[in-house]
Amino acid sequence: MTALLGLDIGATKILGVVASPRGEVLASLRVASPTGGEPVVAAAAEVVAKLRASVGAPTSGGVIGVGIPGLVDMAHGTVRHAVNLGVADGFPFGERLAAATGARVVLDNDANAAALGTAALLGVADLGYLSLGTGLAAALVLDGTLRRGSRNAAGEIGHIPIDPAGPRCECGQVGCLETVASGSAIAALWPGDGRPAAQALFDAAASGSAAAVAVRDRFAARVADAVRLVALTVDPAVVVLGGGVAQVGERLRVAVAHALAEQAAASPFLRSLDLPGRLRLAPSELPVAALGAALLGAR
Ligand SMILES: [Zn+2]
Repeated sequence: MTALLGLDIGATKILGVVASPRGEVLASLRVASPTGGEPVVAAAAEVVAKLRASVGAPTSGGVIGVGIPGLVDMAHGTVRHAVNLGVADGFPFGERLAAATGARVVLDNDANAAALGTAALLGVADLGYLSLGTGLAAALVLDGTLRRGSRNAAGEIGHIPIDPAGPRCECGQVGCLETVASGSAIAALWPGDGRPAAQALFDAAASGSAAAVAVRDRFAARVADAVRLVALTVDPAVVVLGGGVAQVGERLRVAVAHALAEQAAASPFLRSLDLPGRLRLAPSELPVAALGAALLGAR
């Protein structure tokens, strides 16, 4: 059996898995992320070496799939805007990792990898994956295939302006969806007290704080807007809530499903689409992005 190797490279950790072609995780390893292009490559190569040893795989050859934050140029194996990792724009990440591991490297955006991994785990060929992290982006698996777009911008719905009176977004536009539907949007409205702001907010709402309930429900309504946007654009079988904010778990899905039902109350058209019933939470107990990266390498 061919074992597949996948790496999920994030600002805080590098998570590597060995997976079977059917999507079972055979081995996994997690290390802290260093900063800078060369150190990240070195740390990733070490994870690969240890994973190969753990499953008795050859010390070179094969394919390694990598999910990484930022705008990925798949053809050149480079990434831009991977700011939190300290990887410079244009750094030949794919080429360096290939040289360090003796493998072919397939580099893609981390949300795309997570979408592919989630599709495999949920057993669906058609999904919209909402990555609710610092920002907001959607990744699209349509009929089993990732839709990246002609400029790799498919699913960048976080930068659709929805409020002309809203704040200026980092992208330069005004009132983008991610300014009200992302982890940063919550952090601007609710103190995290050292914990992730989403966790603090949902805990406070659960313990009965009226202020927290109001902020949570407003946030859930804006995430529901994002779900509706994806659903009405490409009509996937399911829409998945993922990313750091989804760590609050089922409570997030319930709040967003409730908001979707409210939005559909006056619209027989929306009701007929059953968006609350098509909403899922990304599996939190499994490394979906690393698994998706492994599957990416298999294609
Ligand atoms: Zn924007």
